[in-house]
Amino acid sequence: MPRLTSAALLLAIAAATPLHAQRTSVAAEVDAAYQKGEALYVDLHKAPELSFHETATATRIAAELRTLGFDVTTGVGGTGVVGVLKNGAGPTVLLRTELDALPVTEATGLAFASTVRTKDDNGADVGVMHACGHDLHMAAVVSTARIMAGDRSRWHGTLVVIGQPAEERTSGARAMIQDGLLTRFPRPDFAIAVHDDPRYPSGMIGYHAGPILSNSDAITIRIFGRGGHGARPETTVDPVVIAARTVLTLQTIVSREISPFDQAVITVGAIHGGTKRNIIPDEVRLDLTVRSFTDPVRQHLRSAIERVVKAEAAAAAAPKEPSIELSEPTYALVNDTALTQRISAMLIRELGPTRVRDLPPEGASEDFSEFQRAGIPTLMLRVGATEPAVYDKAIREGATLPSLHNAAFKPDLQPTLRAAITAELLTLRELMSVPRAATR
Ligand SMILES: [Zn+2]
Ligand SMILES: [Zn+2]
Repeated sequence: MPRLTSAALLLAIAAATPLHAQRTSVAAEVDAAYQKGEALYVDLHKAPELSFHETATATRIAAELRTLGFDVTTGVGGTGVVGVLKNGAGPTVLLRTELDALPVTEATGLAFASTVRTKDDNGADVGVMHACGHDLHMAAVVSTARIMAGDRSRWHGTLVVIGQPAEERTSGARAMIQDGLLTRFPRPDFAIAVHDDPRYPSGMIGYHAGPILSNSDAITIRIFGRGGHGARPETTVDPVVIAARTVLTLQTIVSREISPFDQAVITVGAIHGGTKRNIIPDEVRLDLTVRSFTDPVRQHLRSAIERVVKAEAAAAAAPKEPSIELSEPTYALVNDTALTQRISAMLIRELGPTRVRDLPPEGASEDFSEFQRAGIPTLMLRVGATEPAVYDKAIREGATLPSLHNAAFKPDLQPTLRAAITAELLTLRELMSVPRAATR
């Protein structure tokens, strides 16, 4: 993106405020809701829960929404929460937050840092942390719901707020849809989400029409050999050596088979095999994440991986073909073009072009794409989460800003949370605006 200094951003925020009555009023509304939002954020941050285990989190979100007058259903698609607030005839808009945290041991040094440890689904002892900012998303969505519920004269229609489980396993949205989210509850005309992004300065709101996040496939490969004594390799087929060759050949798929004009990633993020230096193991497991933006590239990657893995095993005379398992497939997240244009034009009008920016797509993935695949126009906005001075220094020095999922990730709380609430509130009011005749 073009260089954006924090000074310019702060000036833009300050300059934008007094120009229109509505801006002042939105800022004042966000101010009034902010303290409760921040308190909720701190509570949630201290008590993170892993994907599909978000029971206390779901209970809290459900209680918050009930207090605001929402009709709340829990246990949708596992631990999912659905809150419905009807306010006359008009469009139905879904506003989504995620509920889950990550198996990361927090290292932010914050006074309210998580000290939670638990067993993951494989029985391993892990630290748990809201390292993706889903706590901030929950605080924003509840705050937005509070403002919407508090002043029903400025919108009409049906607001559906959902707390979605297991975004980090990209399976919670599907679980909620399969459990009747779009049939047991009012079907949304639009679905909206906001995600924080530490690669941009806090206070900034980002949009992009079209694909913004990639296809993602999780692939688990088991390479089978024949184990034996480390000093007698001639009696074995060594799966460690097959795995090593496989990892390297896999790297040639993107570099040699995919056009430089297409984007793709194959990462072998985990490799497990063996127990002891003098034992050749029977098998080695590889865990891959595979990213792309289009269906043809995705298909090519899947079939090329299978070809390479089988061929490397065959070349080593493996006693058995490797197993290749595809799980957690996620579809590219595509922001609806008309919806994105409508909302971005409104946000720029309300907040100014310095604060509201068109941001490039990225290689991460999200199961918010399930709503667009179900035929609902969707829009995910992003909010910058890095302290502007830190952002400026990184730009000056060409340094990389810390990413989400990092143990040291901490959003620049106040401006980030305020921007998220502001973006949500303005978007909902735009989509559910009261027609002129009705305001007389
Ligand atoms: Zn995440
Ligand atoms: Zn996330």
